[in-house]
Amino acid sequence: MNKIIGAHFSIANGLGNAVRTAKKQRCNTLQIFTKNPMGWQEKPLAKDEIDDFLSAKKETGIKEVISHTSYLINLASPEKQKQYLSKIALIQEFKRCAALKIKYIVMHPGAYINGSEEDGLKRIAENLNFVFEEVVDNPPSLLLETTAGQGTNLGYKFEHLAFIIKMINNKNRVGVCFDTCHSFAAGYDIRDKKSFEQTIKKFDKILGLKNLRVMHLNDSKKTLGGRIDRHQNIGNGEIGLSAFKIIMNDKRMEKIPKILETPYSKTQNDLKILLNL
Ligand SMILES: [Zn+2]
Repeated sequence: MNKIIGAHFSIANGLGNAVRTAKKQRCNTLQIFTKNPMGWQEKPLAKDEIDDFLSAKKETGIKEVISHTSYLINLASPEKQKQYLSKIALIQEFKRCAALKIKYIVMHPGAYINGSEEDGLKRIAENLNFVFEEVVDNPPSLLLETTAGQGTNLGYKFEHLAFIIKMINNKNRVGVCFDTCHSFAAGYDIRDKKSFEQTIKKFDKILGLKNLRVMHLNDSKKTLGGRIDRHQNIGNGEIGLSAFKIIMNDKRMEKIPKILETPYSKTQNDLKILLNL
């Protein structure tokens, strides 16, 4: 089976070099932040940076690079100023990704902070509709990531993502990223064939398997349903190796890029494990 496997790589040495490092580690896909994920300030990408990134993709033959949005973006926030900054940052992300010819942008749906979950979900959808209007000419799609549901984070139920997608005017612009660690922590078991099938069945019924575009493969330090988001290296956590073996050999997921976001010191080893499953 063809495996589309990669990891999250740092852009500290430039966007192009993240792609080259991924290739050296036998990846055929990767995820990056297109900017510092901890700050609001946006520096437009320089032309030579874009050119170097595009030529690194050509050199390595890596076609699929996935972007992950900044952690500061929170479209569910009840604060107007935070919503405004989040929308501006997301619009910039779309523009950078369009320039870099990146197809998918992965984003955590957001945290509602106070009030009701439903109000938070509505704010996400409304703000996304605004953003999509602003970036009609920028082709990337946005993938809502399944979350662990820590604090007031939304997206720990498949129904949350379905609620948002239902409210999106242009559904061609949205899809889903399934994170094994997050969904396990949210209560979706995947540790053996039977539980994995049940979870995928639910996903298909509520979200549609066709909307699954990217997977994050992470083991979990924390227990099933514990609602705590702590990634662990593959086979060393509460999920265990067999779940990853099932995923890596599932024909339905063959064409889905699979990205590791495990503790970085051992990610290289995790890549080897996945390639041999
Ligand atoms: Zn993730």
